Amino acid sequence: MIEKKLLRKIINICSNNNFTKLLFDYLNFDTVFLNYHRVVSDQEYLSGNRPNNDLIVSKSVFEEQIKYLKQNFNVISINDINKNLDQKKKIIITFDDGYLDNFENALPVLEKYECPAIIYIVTSFLDNKNYPWWLKIWNIIQQKQFIFYNQKKLDISNDRLKFKIYNFFCKKIVLMNKSEQISFFKEVMKNYDNFSNNQSKEFLSKNDLIKLGDSRLIEIGCHTHNHQNLKILNEFELKDEIEKSKLFLEQILKREISHFSIPFGTKKTFSDKSLELIKKFNFKTIVTTEHGNFDKKKMFRIPRIGIGNNDLGGNLYSKAFGFDSFVNKILNR
Ligand SMILES: [Zn+2]
Repeated sequence: MIEKKLLRKIINICSNNNFTKLLFDYLNFDTVFLNYHRVVSDQEYLSGNRPNNDLIVSKSVFEEQIKYLKQNFNVISINDINKNLDQKKKIIITFDDGYLDNFENALPVLEKYECPAIIYIVTSFLDNKNYPWWLKIWNIIQQKQFIFYNQKKLDISNDRLKFKIYNFFCKKIVLMNKSEQISFFKEVMKNYDNFSNNQSKEFLSKNDLIKLGDSRLIEIGCHTHNHQNLKILNEFELKDEIEKSKLFLEQILKREISHFSIPFGTKKTFSDKSLELIKKFNFKTIVTTEHGNFDKKKMFRIPRIGIGNNDLGGNLYSKAFGFDSFVNKILNR
């Protein structure tokens, strides 16, 4: 951990000097996939006391990042991945889940800088019909002073405990299938007399999606119907998750959906078997959140690099160049 931090620090310091640029050229990371989730207003970014902050960027930071990427790299559409473009390193910008702020905050910036991107949609989240478990559990933890689990009363009365218990539950819930999740929430909720379900409208509506799909810069991809851990689903459930969302998107957008993003995207959440099954639905690419750099021979297991609010200057250069994930890989994270 310390070596990695140190190495990353050295890279970030060096990443703008000419020698490092020559080294990067020699290593020849041809294409790098970057991954975003949310782009919130600057005010919301500063006011938020929330988990998963590393998945959120503020609008002004996002604009700086996009401007920088456009100036220094060749940002291309995922559909042009096989085209021989000019020599500049290629970047593909991706968004997961289908948050409303992708339309409200990210799209205007992408349009301003003529920057293509792909947004992978979880179809049951559209119109806020289904609410993801990671927001549901945070909503409870944020409002309450205690939570019952396995006949134990857990103290969640301060921020440190709230984040700790949130992470504890995330690790549990990600391993549950949908019906287990329903029972889990029922169990948790039965200990509260009153609970105001103040879930905000975080996701795109169908109309927003159509407008996004109409933009010549935006490609839409599939991120399943319910955002479940694919590794724990049986074949029937897995097929249903893929097919339902692909057909749903194709019906709304009236075009073929050719790209797929694995929910969570880490090794623990998919298997070779899941990849084989997804391929059968005629997708041209499958992206994950694994570390590593893009390899043209592996279109069905593309690694991506997460971009956060601190990724500017040397940090962003190192990530966008693929050097950061190269380091992660050699340090075996
Ligand atoms: Zn996701």
